[in-house]
Amino acid sequence: MDKKLAEIKNLYNNADEQKLIEQAFVFARSAHRGQKRKTGEDYLIHPLTVACTLSRLQLDARTIAAGLLHDVLENTKITAVDVTKEFDQEIAFLVEGVSKLRGVDFKGEKELAENFRKMILATAQDIRVVLIKLADVLHNTQTLGTLSPSRKKRYAREVLEIYAPIANRLGIGWLKGELEDLAFPYVMPKEYNELSSLVKDAIKENEQYIEDLKPKVFKLLEKEEIKPIKIDARTKHLYSLWKKTKRLDKKPWEIYDLVALRIIVSDIPTCYATLGALHKRWRPLPNEIKDYIALPKPNGYQSLHTKVFGEGGKITEFQIRSQEMHNEAEFGIAAHWAYKEKITHPFKKKLSWIKQLQDWQVAADPKEFLESLKIDFFRDRIFIFTPNGDVIDLPEGATPIDFAYAIHSDLGDQCVMAKVNGKPIQIASALKNNDIVEIITQKNKKPSPDWLGFVKTSKARSKIREALRKQELIK
Ligand code: MN
Repeated sequence: MDKKLAEIKNLYNNADEQKLIEQAFVFARSAHRGQKRKTGEDYLIHPLTVACTLSRLQLDARTIAAGLLHDVLENTKITAVDVTKEFDQEIAFLVEGVSKLRGVDFKGEKELAENFRKMILATAQDIRVVLIKLADVLHNTQTLGTLSPSRKKRYAREVLEIYAPIANRLGIGWLKGELEDLAFPYVMPKEYNELSSLVKDAIKENEQYIEDLKPKVFKLLEKEEIKPIKIDARTKHLYSLWKKTKRLDKKPWEIYDLVALRIIVSDIPTCYATLGALHKRWRPLPNEIKDYIALPKPNGYQSLHTKVFGEGGKITEFQIRSQEMHNEAEFGIAAHWAYKEKITHPFKKKLSWIKQLQDWQVAADPKEFLESLKIDFFRDRIFIFTPNGDVIDLPEGATPIDFAYAIHSDLGDQCVMAKVNGKPIQIASALKNNDIVEIITQKNKKPSPDWLGFVKTSKARSKIREALRKQELIK
């Protein structure tokens, strides 16, 4: 344990920070003295592992301290007042925040909605509370072994349905992948076993191929005077592979990016130069070049992706990104965390989805809340452009009416027609990623009750209802 503590402390070079972490460790050790985890280990190993994960996310020393203390209110006689006295109000606030997130035991949709609601409110208050919770959940999921089978399954389902999507939304790629892969075998043991035995050999083969390819790529880039910072093989996470086979209705061996090569370079121009160099050597597959640098994913993810006919015609995926984009993809929101700073603008905008959820989560009943959540939160997002080039981010399957309401409720209410990429389109049809949409309005036009049958976003739905109520078309 002392070794683990030293590891954490080493990441913080300021003497005050080190002292704070040490102090929290000593406090937690005496508070949990004599307590054991279900695995039989000393309880202290749990908060220490949580603190370790938080230090990996490069969070500030106060968050590390709060991670060490995160279970003292729940499991010992220590109170929030004690924590404030020994440390300060901020640390006590974080510890209390995490304790409040101890969810209702997950039984069904209602508890799920309730736990999710709590997470969202906490995210809006102080994102660090949620990061501590995620680190807590990660270690609990890693050590699920001792629980009863049904309890294991319930916990793992909650991980898949709440915590992994939140990690994804916060842009912390590795955490999302790890949580999903840990929970997958408990939630869907049959699917997990089938898939892992099916792809085991394919993955091994691919990894070997990619290893052999690596020096060739280095040489190729050298010729173009490109010095990559790192070239790494990246194996697709099993759960995300499973989802992809479901989504595309394909067999796992038909998914090409089981193993991809990730190239990290210094800056954006070098990203594009690298893409060019690869395409000069290996012919790209049409329609498989994705420029997430110019058009980032809604969670902020940026990279260039391409698939090429590689050595021996083998289809090979490359991901190219700058060091900065790489940090962002690994640490997400945590990458922006500056000491003591509350959330400031570069990612305030990114958190607008939290604000949106907050706006309507108060009114909706739990069932409706969860249904909308599944669309607004879990679905993949698409980007739609206004004729001026502004980007609106919508769930997959959204219609021109959803788009109109996302811009302004008058635009939605008065919509009579929509043009997509210059051509008229039915207002009920689903938009596609990167469509340019123009809404044609008519003064005094009112929304039709039929619209409720096809809109996808909760915002459009509630605005349409509001307008219909005004006309007394519905109650
Ligand atoms: Mn805990």
